[in-house]
Amino acid sequence: MFDLHGRRVWVAGHRGMVGSAVVRRLARERCSVLTVERSAVDLRRQSDVETWIAETRPDAIILAAAKVGGIHANDTHPAEFIYDNLVIETNIIHAAWRSGVGKLLFLGSSCIYPKFAPQPMTEDALLTGPLEPTNQWYAIAKIAGIKLCQAYRRQYGCDFISAMPTNLYGPGDNFSRTSSHVLPALIRKVHEAVEHGQETVEVWGTGRPRREFLHVDDLADALVFMLRHYSGEEHLNVGTGTDVSIAELAQTVADVIGYRGRFSFDASMPDGTPRKLMDVGRLAGLGWRARMDLRTGIAQTCDWYRTALNQGL
Ligand code: GDP
Repeated sequence: MFDLHGRRVWVAGHRGMVGSAVVRRLARERCSVLTVERSAVDLRRQSDVETWIAETRPDAIILAAAKVGGIHANDTHPAEFIYDNLVIETNIIHAAWRSGVGKLLFLGSSCIYPKFAPQPMTEDALLTGPLEPTNQWYAIAKIAGIKLCQAYRRQYGCDFISAMPTNLYGPGDNFSRTSSHVLPALIRKVHEAVEHGQETVEVWGTGRPRREFLHVDDLADALVFMLRHYSGEEHLNVGTGTDVSIAELAQTVADVIGYRGRFSFDASMPDGTPRKLMDVGRLAGLGWRARMDLRTGIAQTCDWYRTALNQGL
């Protein structure tokens, strides 16, 4: 058990959706939270990272900094997705070891698993088959992050652990038309359709792929739980254990927002992996479960989106 009381916890990537949720969650703990702006420390620069860690001496690090994006962004910016992610995690993990940081939690993603992994995906599906080509660059970088944590644990005894969240959503998400993930994209498109009285909303792909969606506040809670209670070489899946088809997801967003028009499916856009559902048995066995149901989470995220729009997102 890692006692958070009085500890200094650096949340790397605190401006992102995950990092900001972790900062909100840690506010309920009696620890001090360290954050640093990108303009002061560029996490892609080794000397910036080494100096920051050596000067601030965190007791723990949550490594939530990453270059992330949806299926289209991954497919069109492969160099950025592999380079930025590899270099950020390498810099932080290596510097954490050199400065004797007591605990580090690395964040991966469900896309590290093979494209055709048996569903739901267990942790040991890792590296058993080829990856989904659209996000292989990101996935390879995240697999390297898991391996870095394992290697530093084996060679140096560092208590570095990894969490693999499923598809995430919630406040602070990226709502861009082209680079976002499916849920914020649908919220935006459906919201705009209602505003402009449109009768059709376009959904990429066939609508048949299935995805699991975890609210980012649930993830933040799981990460704090893992920081406290988990110490092991193996990465742990974090998800809800249930999935929906993209067509069902679109209909749920329509119900929440009150859109009565139709959806058209653009099969010229990629479907990606046919199904992505985590087996969450290991984390459940340790005592953690997701709490937020999808409809409530979508409603709460729509409220956040409307407020952010009014404030000039
Ligand atoms: P993935 O889980 O890595 O495949 O990433 P995404 O969240 O970007 O996409 C999930 C699924 O939703 C894919 O099958 C997409 O084709 C589909 N999808 C449908 N409409 C959209 C959209 O407007 N934006 C995105 N990003 N995906 C969409």
